[in-house]
Amino acid sequence: MEPRVLQPVNDQNTSENAGTPKKKELTLANFDIGKPLGKGKFGNVYLAREKTSKFIVALKVLFKSQLQNSGVEHQLRREIEIQSHLQHENILRMYQWFHDKKRIFLVLEFAAKGELYKILQREKRFDEKTTAKYVYQLANALKYCHSKKVIHRDIKPENLLISLIGDLKIADFGCSPAVQWGQRTTLCGTLDYLPPEMIEGSFHDENVDLWSLGVLCYELLVGNPPFETESNSETYRRITRVDIRYPSYLLRHDPRKRISPDAVMTHHWIVANHTPKDPPRH
Ligand code: ATP
Ligand code: MG
Repeated sequence: MEPRVLQPVNDQNTSENAGTPKKKELTLANFDIGKPLGKGKFGNVYLAREKTSKFIVALKVLFKSQLQNSGVEHQLRREIEIQSHLQHENILRMYQWFHDKKRIFLVLEFAAKGELYKILQREKRFDEKTTAKYVYQLANALKYCHSKKVIHRDIKPENLLISLIGDLKIADFGCSPAVQWGQRTTLCGTLDYLPPEMIEGSFHDENVDLWSLGVLCYELLVGNPPFETESNSETYRRITRVDIRYPSYLLRHDPRKRISPDAVMTHHWIVANHTPKDPPRH
């Protein structure tokens, strides 16, 4: 159960509770700070515990000066806006945020097993059962994002965290403004996960995330991404030619030919390898 104090800030100002007294804003004094969990570009992430509720979170600390110097305040604002409104079991929750003179603090759901990227490095590759679970859960989260008109655009193992019980959580919405379909490309993603339409500078839509899901599925099973080469230009060429020899329903050059999240979740290979805790919602 989430304690009330950790409800997202934005929930406080909905029309249903307008006029009711505002809940007290969090400050750093509300938390016991534990070990560092990792280092990001603009600050660090710590394990933390809210003092009254004892609720464990990940506290991401960003330095305003660094954000300003890199001109990414606007992007962060968008990231906060998007992530704090998405509520899905496979999307990392952003419960709240607060700031002091020098820093911005994001109160995040704690994903105890950390980055999928590091787990993959350690294990080299995953068996079909584990891969099917992650692909299913990611498809489920993408279905939800796309229904809210949010395209992630930067699906890759570095941006996926794993919870204590082994569930996948999408983190890092830095590349995903709430979009109008058919928007022009901004190159945000890692090369290996970029779909042809983004490399070619074509208009793109939510189908970019399905391409990345296909790349992820391959990388989790095989241990390296499908179009990896020594040089960027060679990788670009392999992606745009879809230079790969195995049947895939996601790695299709034509974005409209990629199967939907629903079709992924009910695909015979997924069904044969993964039994979800909760059956797919329709
Ligand atoms: P980059 O842009 O380089 O990815 P970043 O600023 O986005 O950096 P994060 O990736 O959010 O920073 O955090 C850095 C590291 O901290 C992550 O790689 C991860 O290992 C750890 N971490 C971040 N958030 C959490 C969380 N909610 N639970 C557990 N670990 C986390
Ligand atoms: Mg990150």
